[in-house]
Amino acid sequence: MPIYEYEPLDGDCRICGGRFELNRPASREPLKACPLCRKPVRKLVSLANTPRKQFSVTEAKEAGFQVLERRDHGVYEKK
Ligand SMILES: [Zn+2]
Repeated sequence: MPIYEYEPLDGDCRICGGRFELNRPASREPLKACPLCRKPVRKLVSLANTPRKQFSVTEAKEAGFQVLERRDHGVYEKK
């Protein structure tokens, strides 16, 4: 079951700590408000279901990232 992470749109929630995770069936509508404090929330993209791993430079480039390589004296250069 996917884990969804939510964060309040407006300020911090004192009840849920500003961010919470929820197990919800994918078929259900995303939450519109925190069930605890009723503040409007938005769903965060959660990577909880995919194993976290280190991306390689090649993968980052394939994903459209610009990979910068550190040079001396704090100069960065496009690879
Ligand atoms: Zn809340």
